[in-house]
Amino acid sequence: MTLDTLARDTSVTVSPAALHDLARAVRGQVLAPTHPDFEATAAVWNLAAQGRPAAIVRPAGTEDVVRAIAFARENGLELAVRGGGHSVAGHSTGEGVLVIDTRGLRDLEIDPVGRRARAGAGLTAGEYTARAHELGLATPFGDTASVGITGLTLGGGIGFLARRDGLTIDSLVSAEVVTADGRVVTASAQSNPDLFWALRGGGGNFGVVTSLELDLHPAGIVRGGALLLPATRDVLRGLAPIAAEAPADLTIIANLMPAPPAPFVPEGLVGTPVVAVLGVQAGDAVGAADAFAPLRALARPLVDTVGLIPYPVIYQYTASASIPHASVVRTSFLDAVTDGVVDALLDGYERSTALQSIVQLRVLGGAVAAVAPDATAFAHRQAPVMVGIMAAAESPDDLPPSVAWADEVLGDLRGHRTGAYVNFVADEGDARIREAYPESTYARLAAVKADWDPDNMFRRNQNIRPGAAD
Ligand SMILES: Cc1cc2nc3c(=O)[nH]c(=O)nc-3n(C[C@H](O)[C@H](O)[C@H](O)COP(=O)(O)OP(=O)(O)OC[C@H]3O[C@@H](n4cnc5c(N)ncnc54)[C@H](O)[C@@H]3O)c2cc1C
Repeated sequence: MTLDTLARDTSVTVSPAALHDLARAVRGQVLAPTHPDFEATAAVWNLAAQGRPAAIVRPAGTEDVVRAIAFARENGLELAVRGGGHSVAGHSTGEGVLVIDTRGLRDLEIDPVGRRARAGAGLTAGEYTARAHELGLATPFGDTASVGITGLTLGGGIGFLARRDGLTIDSLVSAEVVTADGRVVTASAQSNPDLFWALRGGGGNFGVVTSLELDLHPAGIVRGGALLLPATRDVLRGLAPIAAEAPADLTIIANLMPAPPAPFVPEGLVGTPVVAVLGVQAGDAVGAADAFAPLRALARPLVDTVGLIPYPVIYQYTASASIPHASVVRTSFLDAVTDGVVDALLDGYERSTALQSIVQLRVLGGAVAAVAPDATAFAHRQAPVMVGIMAAAESPDDLPPSVAWADEVLGDLRGHRTGAYVNFVADEGDARIREAYPESTYARLAAVKADWDPDNMFRRNQNIRPGAAD
């Protein structure tokens, strides 16, 4: 925004003069609420969690982040840090907060020989994946292109290459971080290893990440696509064991959901409940053995688009998930998909009255389980299956029945489930954050937090209380 416009701005809850100074001091942009682009820039994915920030800083480099943090401290403003804006809890926005919007930090350098990338924190998974694919390489991110790489990485990162290549954090080599006291540090196995451990699952608690150094893995042409199977007890019961026993180069995400209005779905099927299995088989065996075959044997597929595709094409199957909605998400891990679990999920799904509801099963194992639970702050390494309960409404006013529904379905899983995946925890209070970490992990995170952010400057996140071990 121009300095003139800032000076005339009367809607900001921080002094316009102070914002004026900040705008002068940074190379990037400072947007006050009267800026014509403010609303669009402030918009986040979960419409039910949309806040009205006091101002937005769009850094053009690390120094701008340092200045923005100092500005927030000097002006007593709460900070929100934003990448792709997909926080289900709405942590990258808020009432009267200063948003550090990292979307201007989108440089991407790729070393195809060393298979390493240095990525600006504001890139989305889709942007990064498209560029890496030009070299036949990929870093394992999540299932949706519009999710920001940094928010995803800091929580763990579970996607279509998880069983072959692990979580996103398992490919993280280092991160550049601006700390609460304005230092610019590198976190890696060699440099500040405590911080590096905490960044790999501890979320945005420890500083503002400006860039990530990530390993790349071969993923040019893969076998992938969608199998739409009948939404029966047998299918849901049979899926997880088959996917768990499959070669680790196959990762699937199964969604009990209404068949989507996609070009590959026959019109008569749209809207009827199906188990939509999205999957990727990546690796040397792709040309030889089709790892999807046992899944097809579960029940005759209603739709089968699985074939050889360029890896990024898998994101086309989840493109509609990028569209902002009023949303609720609940998460946990399952020891097994038993008859009791299947009954709870099917019965729960049938009770939903939402615009769209999805019960999701992600089969883990493989490279995810090959890392020790205490090696990173993401500790659920041995969990065989992650469950997600999701519903969307057209407007926030319509969401409360779906929130009650999601809580009820999660409640029905009591006795079958443990823990929570921090990236899918919504605004659910401290107890659920504690559930995302075993006690010893939380205690270690709290100690690292006390070292790096003792005043809890970075608290709009799944907040770890500094030093709060008990
Ligand atoms: C449609 C959808 C699909 C998803 N699919 C998957 C999936 O397949 N696998 C998976 O693992 N997760 C998935 N997620 C969850 C996702 O990983 C988290 O919501 C993640 O936090 C989003 O990151 P973001 O940058 O898009 O969000 P933002 O809202 O921009 O950021 C979320 C939080 O991350 C932190 N953060 C972001 N950038 C920085 C930074 N530069 N420095 C410090 N902290 C930062 C902040 O605490 C911020 O509040 C999905 C979410 C949605 C909505």
